[in-house]
Amino acid sequence: MKKIKLMIIGAHPDDCDICAGGTAMKVLEAGGEVCFLSVSNGDHGHQVHTCEELAARRFNETQAVGKKYGIDYRVLDIHDCHIEATVENRVKVTAAIRNYSPDIIFTHRPCDYHVDHRNTAQLVLDSAYLLAVPLFCPEAPAMKKTPVILHMQDNFVKPYPFEPTVAVDTTDYQAEKMEMLSMQESQFIEWLPWIDGYADEVPADHEGQIDMIYKHWGIRDFNNANKYRDFLVWKYGEEKGNAIKHAEFFEICEYGTVISKEELNEIFD
Ligand SMILES: [Zn+2]
Repeated sequence: MKKIKLMIIGAHPDDCDICAGGTAMKVLEAGGEVCFLSVSNGDHGHQVHTCEELAARRFNETQAVGKKYGIDYRVLDIHDCHIEATVENRVKVTAAIRNYSPDIIFTHRPCDYHVDHRNTAQLVLDSAYLLAVPLFCPEAPAMKKTPVILHMQDNFVKPYPFEPTVAVDTTDYQAEKMEMLSMQESQFIEWLPWIDGYADEVPADHEGQIDMIYKHWGIRDFNNANKYRDFLVWKYGEEKGNAIKHAEFFEICEYGTVISKEELNEIFD
């Protein structure tokens, strides 16, 4: 793993953690830097709290994650379920990227079930070229070099399925990643079980909760390692590629700086 400055841009507090938490830990362990940017404040996803209470609680959860793992966890002040790809938000996202100045950005794909995910991806794509345009958003200095932009994995196939350009073996970080998710209690212990209909399965003890989070969320990294097994074998060789249990995958976006698949996989070795 090369020492890089990585910015992960998700729609909600928890998207970066779910889609790229293992890779983030690997980058940090290699001496790199990581910022998670949540474009919304996550203030609509709860069955009990008011929006104000929830925004405060979820912000505190992100900051606890940031503190524990050494991640610079930032949250924009945009309401959950209300992210739109407007010029006003394009300025906010452009400024946030310029202010952090990453080498590489991860974000959603523009075809995704959640309108906030789609619009977050759209905002990043809309900002890509503008990052280097000094007269756009002059309050944050323009970047000399456009970052590499990669999309995070999902299973949607229309209009086109995700095709990995980068694989990261996150097997050694999976347990830690589940701990990271469990710290966002309002989400993984309360809201997601309620909205997805398994609230009656939530165990009272921490170990049981970790198992539940793995069963519903961590399992994605296991399934993806199997789904893209050929890619893992291409990258890590027959023996190691076949032994990898958990992995995260990313796809190059043509609007950022484009580098080869080989070079990218050397960065995320
Ligand atoms: Zn989300």
